[in-house]
Amino acid sequence: MISIVSSNTRRMLLFSLLSYAAGIQWVQAQEANDPKLTEVWTPEPKVVTPGAVYGQAPSDAIVLFDGTSLDQWVNVKDTTQPAGWTVADGILTVNKKAGNIQTKQSFSNYQLHIEWRIPANITGSGQGRGNSGVFLASTGPGDDGYELQVLDCYNNKTYVNGQTGSIYKQAIPLANACRKPGEWQSYDIVWTAPVFSEAGDLLSPAKVTVFQNGIVVENGFELKGQTLYIGKPYYKKHGPSPIKLQAHGDKSEPLSYRNIWVRPL
Ligand code: MG
Repeated sequence: MISIVSSNTRRMLLFSLLSYAAGIQWVQAQEANDPKLTEVWTPEPKVVTPGAVYGQAPSDAIVLFDGTSLDQWVNVKDTTQPAGWTVADGILTVNKKAGNIQTKQSFSNYQLHIEWRIPANITGSGQGRGNSGVFLASTGPGDDGYELQVLDCYNNKTYVNGQTGSIYKQAIPLANACRKPGEWQSYDIVWTAPVFSEAGDLLSPAKVTVFQNGIVVENGFELKGQTLYIGKPYYKKHGPSPIKLQAHGDKSEPLSYRNIWVRPL
């Protein structure tokens, strides 16, 4: 068969094949330089309108305390009962007798904004000076949960893994960003809930990033488990959980909260 194809024809065939291959290479080179190839257009992020000023709830936030009522909260000792803390003049003040309070709703991953104020006339020292706490997940009766410490550490020494901005007894804050007693302070928190298998094994730990007064104090910290007063932290399986605020048993003057909102992620 070969013999009946002339050498000219063979040369033309070879030339055509080489030209075709060169053409493919040229197209591939052009495509590799095309910026459009790495553009992604869907899914589009939802539109969220920011608050007019820093700290104001954005359009999609769930407002947990707007200065008027504690409708979004219940008492931890008996979750059928009202929270029992004091609402006056647009702020929420801890009632130590009532105990801890928690949100009616449960959350997994979220962004939380919360403002708090240590009384100007605060007394006490160490852990007994304006102690409260934001429990990032209140995992159930008898559990410790995961506490982001609230304390007056403006001029007050305590163990550093228990000072303001610490993940209690697990993470020393990256800075002491405390304002003076009497001044309002803020936490902006990004919480990633831990993930458990059906059997209760930990698949991925909880992670948290916290800004105190705009200063990063926890940067993607991976929790070792629940934050315990005594002993080593450990995990215990849970699902979506309420957010809890602590009524600490110390004798110092109770602190106040305001402007609390959350955005489930
Ligand atoms: Mg505390």
